[in-house]
Amino acid sequence: MTTGLLDRYGHLLDLPPHTARVTLLEGGTPLIPTPRLARRMGGGFDLLIKYEGLNPTGSFKDRGMTAAVSEAVGRGAKRVICASTGNTAASAAAYAARAGLGCVVLIPEGKVAAGKLAGARAYGAQVVQIKGSFDDALRLVVEITRRHPIALVNSINPYRIEGQKTAAFEICDDLGAAPDLLCLPVGNAGNITAYWGGFKRYDEVKGSGLPRLLGVQAEGAAPLVLGHPVEKPETVATAIRIGRPARGEEALRAAEESGGRIIAVSDAQILEMQRLLAQEEGIWVEPASAAGLAGLAQEVAAGRLDVRGKRVVAVCTGHGLKDPDIISRATPQPKVIAPTMDALEEIVLQSEERQP
Ligand SMILES: *Cc1c(COP(=O)(O)O)cnc(C)c1O
Repeated sequence: MTTGLLDRYGHLLDLPPHTARVTLLEGGTPLIPTPRLARRMGGGFDLLIKYEGLNPTGSFKDRGMTAAVSEAVGRGAKRVICASTGNTAASAAAYAARAGLGCVVLIPEGKVAAGKLAGARAYGAQVVQIKGSFDDALRLVVEITRRHPIALVNSINPYRIEGQKTAAFEICDDLGAAPDLLCLPVGNAGNITAYWGGFKRYDEVKGSGLPRLLGVQAEGAAPLVLGHPVEKPETVATAIRIGRPARGEEALRAAEESGGRIIAVSDAQILEMQRLLAQEEGIWVEPASAAGLAGLAQEVAAGRLDVRGKRVVAVCTGHGLKDPDIISRATPQPKVIAPTMDALEEIVLQSEERQP
């Protein structure tokens, strides 16, 4: 039977007794083998994609949101608020709607992908645009929740992290143990923190072992690689366009404890990996979600990471439908032809000739 994450894994999470159960039956996302992509990286290892874009609102944020909103409702909150690069907004809006709560989301003006903004509006949240960055928005929501009884559901909310640990549990359940290596994108650094906490928790209760972590930032928004905040973060991967990660210290500690690292890749590498994953494996993810894989490919190609004989899981955090504009820009407009067989044959047979 399908159950929500709190029913399935709540006993392993540190949630207060007043926590209610607000769920959209999130989680249970597939772990998809991608052998072609593995061969492209040199082969000789197992590569699996944890496809988090298949959560109810199209990103992993739903894992943390079921926990954070459940806790907020249980303690009597009437409204929730968050700053967001987009996916947190859509997720908070959906879970607030589900729980009958009000929801306010702050987003950086003009920097949120179309599918995410549409989501937040569709679910009925009050959407406020900030003439500033995600980091500015986060500062403001932290301040307003200190002054007024509105529940903060950003990933500085500890229950978000608790909920997000469930992805690590699912991977261990599917594989029978932790993978050798886990690679994932890093923005505000909540997710890598949650994965590490989740793997450690499962190792305590099930002896499932621990993976090395490879966290990947975008070059234009790589404070954890540079060692200092980035005032004006820029990247095509808007979900990780963050210059002051709230959980940066924890992320660095997690990577180090695991024997792994946090690295950066270029926007070109991210977009190329997004294209490969869609066109060679049939898995369409938003740009940020391809960063983990792009980082893996870079490290393997440079000989800095030996994956032979290993089991590698790449977390693909959000669905490609979230950011359709990127694709419209990156691929040619579909041709328009007359409604005749001649015209159709001409164009179809031409393109057949071009196939390898
Ligand atoms: C939020 C998000 C990230 C970054 O996760 P953090 O916890 O902020 O590091 C990456 N990809 C997508 C699609 C996201 O929505």
